[in-house]
Amino acid sequence: MVLDCAIAGAPVSGLAATPEGEGSVPVFDVAIAGGGIVGATVACALRGSGLKVAVIEALPQATAARQAQAYAFSLLSGRIFRGLGLWETVRSRLETFTRIRLSDGDWPDVVEFEPADLGTAELGYVAEHSVLLSALHQAMNDAPEITWLCPAAVTGVTYGEEFAEVAIAPKAELSGEALPQKLRAKLVVAADGGRSPLREAAGIGTRGWGYWQSCIVAAVRPERSHDQVAYERFQASGPFAILPLGDTCRIVWTAPHAEAQALAALDDEQFLAQLERRFGPQMGKLTLLGRRHTFTVRLMQSDRYCRPRLALVGEAAHNCHPVGGQGLNLGIRDAAALAETIQTAIAQGEDIGSVAVLRRYDRWRRWGNWTILGFTDVLDRLFSNQIWPLMAVRRLGIFALKRIKPLKVFSLKLMTGLLGRLPALAR
Ligand SMILES: Cc1cc2nc3c(=O)[nH]c(=O)nc-3n(C[C@H](O)[C@H](O)[C@H](O)COP(=O)(O)OP(=O)(O)OC[C@H]3O[C@@H](n4cnc5c(N)ncnc54)[C@H](O)[C@@H]3O)c2cc1C
Repeated sequence: MVLDCAIAGAPVSGLAATPEGEGSVPVFDVAIAGGGIVGATVACALRGSGLKVAVIEALPQATAARQAQAYAFSLLSGRIFRGLGLWETVRSRLETFTRIRLSDGDWPDVVEFEPADLGTAELGYVAEHSVLLSALHQAMNDAPEITWLCPAAVTGVTYGEEFAEVAIAPKAELSGEALPQKLRAKLVVAADGGRSPLREAAGIGTRGWGYWQSCIVAAVRPERSHDQVAYERFQASGPFAILPLGDTCRIVWTAPHAEAQALAALDDEQFLAQLERRFGPQMGKLTLLGRRHTFTVRLMQSDRYCRPRLALVGEAAHNCHPVGGQGLNLGIRDAAALAETIQTAIAQGEDIGSVAVLRRYDRWRRWGNWTILGFTDVLDRLFSNQIWPLMAVRRLGIFALKRIKPLKVFSLKLMTGLLGRLPALAR
């Protein structure tokens, strides 16, 4: 895909403001490339702001919502959904967890987090991709100020002084509708996922690294109830998480590439035997459900989250290790923060695509995300080894977490999203 864009911040002078309706190019305030959970959250958070919003998504709505993935959904993400008015729609379809058990290999000291540590009724949720995305899509379909261009891919962006022009390749054969081939917007939001063609074409660099580990996700049905307990078990090969969901559990199993490949190559029966050894006997016999998937794991942070007329959100801006289930939650927080920044700018009569406005979003979220990226990286490196000085440090850490309440509350607040500046939607 060629993104015809004025790279490295030099605006294309030929683009001037086009009054609405002139020619056949539709004009919007905000164009969001990518209608995944993060892009759709930005759109929903802008409802009622008086702004015209276009969302361009490459996949048909039904296909996008069908993804089988499930996520740890933080208390903060729950509050943001409440702020969006979507809580009642999703609440009954989420699993709540009321305890988290954190352990280091076979070391007997286990840290148990409880709602009483935070003074809340629960510690977090597990949400299926389809539940979150369907609720967001429904809200977008009901909002007259949101135009949903789908399935259609953004193929290029030309950044002008006052507008960005977005080139679109509609897939009319799938939608049956005649979608525009370009549009203009004061601000383009790149919510186009980890590979983000928009970020790359805009010349925004990234830093980070691939981990030596891959991640396998699978679903199992245990014989006995999970009792709403989530587990994070640190093994020498990598973290192993169990997330409760209805009468099933989702497994997020991180292991060095070679081990992950060997696990992926096993047939279901052999895989289940390995899984049962990791999982332990606490829920009885396990039945493997559906297919398992293997992902590579990386840490990535964009050098900037904006340039004139462009803002990055979600995986387009950052990727993190799956330990602690933070990735999507950071993206939902970005979405709420960007929408708030835009709305404040509108109230102050500012240009929402200007660098002055977008830098406020960049400062707010980029530094906040560094904290979590760094924390997950340290956790993975500290625990995924058998180097005895590091083993001593982490066991001392577990000892301290169990016994020093402020430390326990601090780490719990960090992982549930309740530290730092909260978006207004979550307050
Ligand atoms: C194994 C694993 C486990 C994870 N577990 C958790 C967890 O427990 N909790 C958690 O919070 N996070 C988790 N994550 C991270 C989470 O999956 C991601 O952070 C999240 O899906 C990113 O959402 P997004 O909307 O930014 O990007 P995406 O979901 O990738 O959405 C991007 C969208 O943009 C569209 N698109 C792309 N290019 C274009 C284009 N040119 N034009 C139009 N549309 C385009 C795509 O079709 C897609 O719909 C996990 C990740 C992995 C790999």
